[in-house]
Amino acid sequence: ETPPDVPLQVRNLRKTFGGIVAVDDVSFAVEAGTITGLIGPNGAGKSTTFDCIAGALEPDSGSVRFNGADVTGFRPDQIATRGLVRTFQIARELPEMTVLENLMLAPTDQVGEQLWRSVMPGARGSVIDQERELRERVWETLEFFEIDHLARQKAGALSGGQRKLLEMARALMTDPDLLLLDEPLAGVNPTLEEKLLDRIHDLRDQGYTFLLVEHDMDVIMDHCEHVIVMHQGSLLAEGPPTEIRSNEQVIDAYLGG
Ligand code: ADP
Ligand code: MG
Repeated sequence: ETPPDVPLQVRNLRKTFGGIVAVDDVSFAVEAGTITGLIGPNGAGKSTTFDCIAGALEPDSGSVRFNGADVTGFRPDQIATRGLVRTFQIARELPEMTVLENLMLAPTDQVGEQLWRSVMPGARGSVIDQERELRERVWETLEFFEIDHLARQKAGALSGGQRKLLEMARALMTDPDLLLLDEPLAGVNPTLEEKLLDRIHDLRDQGYTFLLVEHDMDVIMDHCEHVIVMHQGSLLAEGPPTEIRSNEQVIDAYLGG
Protein backbone atom coordinates (compact mmCIF):
# COMPACT_ATOMS: atom_id res chain seq x y z
CA GLU A 1 0.00 0.00 0.00
CA THR A 2 1.13 3.53 -0.79
CA PRO A 3 0.91 5.91 2.17
CA PRO A 4 -1.17 9.03 1.35
CA ASP A 5 1.81 11.34 1.77
CA VAL A 6 3.70 9.40 -0.92
CA PRO A 7 1.66 9.89 -4.10
CA LEU A 8 4.21 8.36 -6.47
CA GLN A 9 6.05 5.11 -5.96
CA VAL A 10 8.26 3.57 -8.63
CA ARG A 11 9.41 0.02 -7.98
CA ASN A 12 12.07 -1.99 -9.82
CA LEU A 13 11.37 -0.18 -13.06
CA ARG A 14 13.12 -1.57 -16.12
CA LYS A 15 12.95 -0.50 -19.76
CA THR A 16 15.09 -1.72 -22.63
CA PHE A 17 15.32 -0.66 -26.26
CA GLY A 18 16.78 -3.62 -28.14
CA GLY A 19 20.09 -4.21 -26.41
CA ILE A 20 20.11 -0.89 -24.54
CA VAL A 21 19.03 -0.98 -20.91
CA ALA A 22 17.69 2.57 -20.60
CA VAL A 23 16.23 2.09 -17.10
CA ASP A 24 17.63 -0.66 -14.94
CA ASP A 25 15.79 -1.70 -11.75
CA VAL A 26 15.01 1.82 -10.56
CA SER A 27 12.99 2.36 -7.38
CA PHE A 28 12.10 5.65 -5.71
CA ALA A 29 9.24 7.52 -4.11
CA VAL A 30 8.04 11.12 -4.34
CA GLU A 31 6.55 12.70 -1.23
CA ALA A 32 3.48 14.92 -1.41
CA GLY A 33 4.03 18.66 -1.53
CA THR A 34 7.70 18.44 -2.43
CA ILE A 35 9.79 19.58 -5.35
CA THR A 36 11.86 16.49 -6.05
CA GLY A 37 14.70 16.64 -8.55
CA LEU A 38 15.71 13.85 -10.92
CA ILE A 39 19.19 14.44 -12.23
CA GLY A 40 21.91 12.58 -14.10
CA PRO A 41 24.17 12.93 -17.12
CA ASN A 42 22.79 12.74 -20.65
CA GLY A 43 21.53 9.26 -21.45
CA ALA A 44 21.09 8.36 -17.77
CA GLY A 45 17.49 7.29 -18.40
CA LYS A 46 15.59 10.26 -16.95
CA SER A 47 13.24 10.87 -19.86
CA THR A 48 12.59 7.14 -20.27
CA THR A 49 11.71 6.96 -16.58
CA PHE A 50 9.26 9.86 -17.08
CA ASP A 51 7.79 8.10 -20.13
CA CYS A 52 7.23 4.92 -18.11
CA ILE A 53 5.62 6.82 -15.23
CA ALA A 54 3.33 8.93 -17.43
CA GLY A 55 2.27 6.06 -19.68
CA ALA A 56 4.05 7.01 -22.91
CA LEU A 57 6.10 3.81 -22.64
CA GLU A 58 5.23 0.49 -21.08
CA PRO A 59 8.02 -0.72 -18.79
CA ASP A 60 9.47 -4.22 -19.36
CA SER A 61 9.01 -4.87 -15.66
CA GLY A 62 8.48 -3.10 -12.37
CA SER A 63 5.55 -1.01 -11.23
CA VAL A 64 4.30 2.55 -10.92
CA ARG A 65 1.84 3.37 -8.16
CA PHE A 66 0.08 6.71 -8.10
CA ASN A 67 -2.31 7.88 -5.37
CA GLY A 68 -2.68 4.38 -4.07
CA ALA A 69 -3.41 2.68 -7.39
CA ASP A 70 -1.23 0.55 -9.62
CA VAL A 71 -1.09 2.52 -12.89
CA THR A 72 1.65 0.48 -14.58
CA GLY A 73 1.00 0.28 -18.32
CA PHE A 74 -1.94 2.71 -18.22
CA ARG A 75 -2.37 5.12 -21.14
CA PRO A 76 -1.24 8.76 -20.66
CA ASP A 77 -4.85 10.02 -20.65
CA GLN A 78 -5.84 7.46 -18.00
CA ILE A 79 -2.93 8.59 -15.86
CA ALA A 80 -3.64 12.29 -16.46
CA THR A 81 -7.26 11.72 -15.39
CA ARG A 82 -5.95 10.39 -12.09
CA GLY A 83 -3.97 13.58 -11.58
CA LEU A 84 -0.49 12.96 -12.95
CA VAL A 85 0.70 14.96 -15.97
CA ARG A 86 4.04 15.50 -17.60
CA THR A 87 5.61 18.20 -19.71
CA PHE A 88 8.15 17.47 -22.39
CA GLN A 89 11.79 18.37 -22.89
CA ILE A 90 10.64 19.80 -26.23
CA ALA A 91 7.44 21.79 -25.66
CA ARG A 92 4.44 20.27 -27.43
CA GLU A 93 2.09 23.17 -27.89
CA LEU A 94 -0.05 23.46 -31.02
CA PRO A 95 1.97 26.08 -32.95
CA GLU A 96 -0.79 27.18 -35.35
CA MET A 97 -3.25 27.81 -32.53
CA THR A 98 -3.27 30.86 -30.29
CA VAL A 99 -2.09 30.67 -26.71
CA LEU A 100 -5.72 30.99 -25.61
CA GLU A 101 -6.82 28.11 -27.86
CA ASN A 102 -3.95 25.97 -26.63
CA LEU A 103 -5.22 26.32 -23.08
CA MET A 104 -8.87 25.87 -24.04
CA LEU A 105 -7.96 22.60 -25.75
CA ALA A 106 -5.48 21.38 -23.14
CA PRO A 107 -7.84 19.33 -20.96
CA THR A 108 -9.30 17.51 -23.98
CA ASP A 109 -5.90 17.13 -25.51
CA GLN A 110 -4.27 15.54 -22.50
CA VAL A 111 -7.02 13.56 -20.82
CA GLY A 112 -9.23 12.63 -23.76
CA GLU A 113 -12.40 14.04 -25.29
CA GLN A 114 -15.01 12.42 -23.05
CA LEU A 115 -13.02 12.67 -19.88
CA TRP A 116 -12.06 16.30 -19.54
CA ARG A 117 -15.33 17.37 -17.97
CA SER A 118 -14.76 14.96 -15.13
CA VAL A 119 -11.41 16.56 -14.33
CA MET A 120 -12.62 20.14 -14.64
CA PRO A 121 -13.68 21.00 -11.09
CA GLY A 122 -17.26 22.18 -11.00
CA ALA A 123 -17.73 21.56 -14.72
CA ARG A 124 -21.36 20.56 -14.49
CA GLY A 125 -24.57 22.07 -15.76
CA SER A 126 -25.20 23.36 -19.26
CA VAL A 127 -22.63 23.39 -22.03
CA ILE A 128 -22.65 27.19 -21.84
CA ASP A 129 -21.85 27.10 -18.12
CA GLN A 130 -19.07 24.62 -18.73
CA GLU A 131 -17.63 26.75 -21.52
CA ARG A 132 -17.73 29.82 -19.25
CA GLU A 133 -16.02 27.95 -16.42
CA LEU A 134 -13.36 26.70 -18.77
CA ARG A 135 -12.75 30.23 -20.08
CA GLU A 136 -12.47 31.62 -16.55
CA ARG A 137 -10.00 28.95 -15.62
CA VAL A 138 -7.98 29.56 -18.79
CA TRP A 139 -7.72 33.30 -18.04
CA GLU A 140 -6.80 32.66 -14.40
CA THR A 141 -4.06 30.31 -15.58
CA LEU A 142 -2.79 32.78 -18.20
CA GLU A 143 -2.63 35.51 -15.56
CA PHE A 144 -0.91 33.23 -13.07
CA PHE A 145 1.88 32.60 -15.57
CA GLU A 146 1.79 36.25 -16.73
CA ILE A 147 1.19 35.30 -20.34
CA ASP A 148 -2.30 36.77 -20.60
CA HIS A 149 -0.96 39.54 -22.85
CA LEU A 150 0.06 36.80 -25.31
CA ALA A 151 -3.38 35.16 -25.39
CA ARG A 152 -4.12 36.03 -29.03
CA GLN A 153 -0.68 35.19 -30.39
CA LYS A 154 0.05 31.98 -32.20
CA ALA A 155 1.89 29.60 -29.89
CA GLY A 156 4.50 28.97 -32.59
CA ALA A 157 5.52 32.66 -32.44
CA LEU A 158 6.46 32.57 -28.75
CA SER A 159 10.03 32.59 -27.43
CA GLY A 160 11.47 29.36 -26.03
CA GLY A 161 10.85 30.54 -22.48
CA GLN A 162 7.30 31.64 -23.15
CA ARG A 163 6.60 28.23 -24.69
CA LYS A 164 7.82 26.61 -21.48
CA LEU A 165 5.39 28.75 -19.48
CA LEU A 166 2.63 27.76 -21.88
CA GLU A 167 3.60 24.11 -21.55
CA MET A 168 3.25 24.29 -17.78
CA ALA A 169 0.00 26.22 -18.06
CA ARG A 170 -1.37 23.50 -20.37
CA ALA A 171 -0.38 20.81 -17.89
CA LEU A 172 -2.12 22.69 -15.07
CA MET A 173 -5.37 22.85 -17.03
CA THR A 174 -5.93 19.16 -16.32
CA ASP A 175 -6.03 19.94 -12.58
CA PRO A 176 -3.23 17.55 -11.63
CA ASP A 177 -1.86 16.62 -8.19
CA LEU A 178 1.60 15.80 -9.46
CA LEU A 179 3.54 17.32 -12.34
CA LEU A 180 6.51 15.71 -14.03
CA LEU A 181 8.56 18.46 -15.64
CA ASP A 182 11.21 17.41 -18.14
CA GLU A 183 13.86 20.14 -18.31
CA PRO A 184 11.41 22.99 -17.73
CA LEU A 185 14.20 25.58 -17.83
CA ALA A 186 15.96 24.45 -21.02
CA GLY A 187 16.31 27.42 -23.35
CA VAL A 188 14.70 29.83 -20.90
CA ASN A 189 16.30 33.24 -20.33
CA PRO A 190 17.21 34.21 -16.73
CA THR A 191 14.20 36.53 -16.25
CA LEU A 192 11.68 33.92 -17.34
CA GLU A 193 13.62 31.23 -15.49
CA GLU A 194 13.06 33.08 -12.24
CA LYS A 195 9.40 33.53 -13.06
CA LEU A 196 8.98 29.83 -13.80
CA LEU A 197 10.73 28.80 -10.59
CA ASP A 198 8.59 31.26 -8.61
CA ARG A 199 5.45 29.73 -10.12
CA ILE A 200 6.65 26.21 -9.27
CA HIS A 201 7.19 27.33 -5.66
CA ASP A 202 3.76 29.02 -5.52
CA LEU A 203 2.13 25.84 -6.77
CA ARG A 204 4.09 23.68 -4.36
CA ASP A 205 2.89 25.94 -1.53
CA GLN A 206 -0.67 25.37 -2.78
CA GLY A 207 -0.14 21.62 -2.40
CA TYR A 208 1.01 20.50 -5.83
CA THR A 209 3.86 18.00 -6.04
CA PHE A 210 6.69 18.21 -8.56
CA LEU A 211 9.20 15.79 -9.96
CA LEU A 212 11.53 17.66 -12.23
CA VAL A 213 14.39 16.75 -14.49
CA GLU A 214 16.92 19.54 -14.68
CA HIS A 215 20.51 19.79 -15.87
CA ASP A 216 21.51 22.87 -13.91
CA MET A 217 22.88 21.59 -10.59
CA ASP A 218 22.50 24.99 -8.91
CA VAL A 219 18.80 25.05 -9.71
CA ILE A 220 18.37 21.57 -8.27
CA MET A 221 20.35 22.44 -5.15
CA ASP A 222 18.47 25.70 -4.56
CA HIS A 223 14.95 24.53 -5.31
CA CYS A 224 14.51 20.83 -4.54
CA GLU A 225 14.05 19.32 -1.10
CA HIS A 226 14.92 15.85 -2.33
CA VAL A 227 17.20 14.74 -5.15
CA ILE A 228 17.32 11.44 -7.05
CA VAL A 229 20.39 10.75 -9.17
CA MET A 230 20.43 8.37 -12.13
CA HIS A 231 23.49 7.18 -14.01
CA GLN A 232 23.60 4.73 -16.93
CA GLY A 233 20.05 3.60 -16.27
CA SER A 234 20.50 2.96 -12.56
CA LEU A 235 19.69 4.87 -9.42
CA LEU A 236 23.03 6.16 -8.20
CA ALA A 237 22.06 8.10 -5.07
CA GLU A 238 19.21 9.96 -3.43
CA GLY A 239 18.91 12.36 -0.55
CA PRO A 240 18.78 16.02 0.42
CA PRO A 241 20.65 18.42 -1.92
CA THR A 242 23.53 19.10 0.48
CA GLU A 243 24.23 15.37 0.75
CA ILE A 244 23.99 14.85 -3.00
CA ARG A 245 26.29 17.78 -3.74
CA SER A 246 29.12 16.20 -1.75
CA ASN A 247 28.47 12.60 -2.82
CA GLU A 248 31.67 11.29 -4.45
CA GLN A 249 29.87 8.93 -6.81
CA VAL A 250 27.64 11.75 -8.03
CA ILE A 251 30.61 14.04 -8.60
CA ASP A 252 32.42 11.27 -10.52
CA ALA A 253 29.35 10.53 -12.65
CA TYR A 254 29.03 14.18 -13.63
CA LEU A 255 32.70 14.72 -14.31
CA GLY A 256 32.97 11.40 -16.14
CA GLY A 257 30.00 12.39 -18.37
P1 ADP B 1 18.14 11.12 -20.38
O1 ADP B 1 16.77 11.69 -20.46
O2 ADP B 1 18.63 10.89 -18.99
O3 ADP B 1 19.14 11.91 -21.17
P2 ADP B 1 17.02 8.93 -21.94
O4 ADP B 1 16.00 8.32 -21.08
O5 ADP B 1 16.56 9.85 -23.01
O6 ADP B 1 18.13 9.64 -21.04
O7 ADP B 1 17.86 7.78 -22.63
C1 ADP B 1 18.40 6.68 -21.90
C2 ADP B 1 19.07 5.72 -22.89
O8 ADP B 1 18.07 5.08 -23.67
C3 ADP B 1 20.02 6.37 -23.86
O9 ADP B 1 21.08 5.48 -24.10
C4 ADP B 1 19.19 6.56 -25.09
O10 ADP B 1 19.98 6.58 -26.24
C5 ADP B 1 18.29 5.35 -25.05
N1 ADP B 1 16.98 5.57 -25.65
C6 ADP B 1 16.04 6.45 -25.21
N2 ADP B 1 14.93 6.39 -25.97
C7 ADP B 1 15.18 5.45 -26.91
C8 ADP B 1 14.43 4.91 -28.01
N3 ADP B 1 13.19 5.32 -28.27
N4 ADP B 1 15.00 3.94 -28.77
C9 ADP B 1 16.25 3.51 -28.51
N5 ADP B 1 17.02 3.97 -27.50
C10 ADP B 1 16.50 4.92 -26.71
MG1 MG C 1 16.07 13.50 -21.34
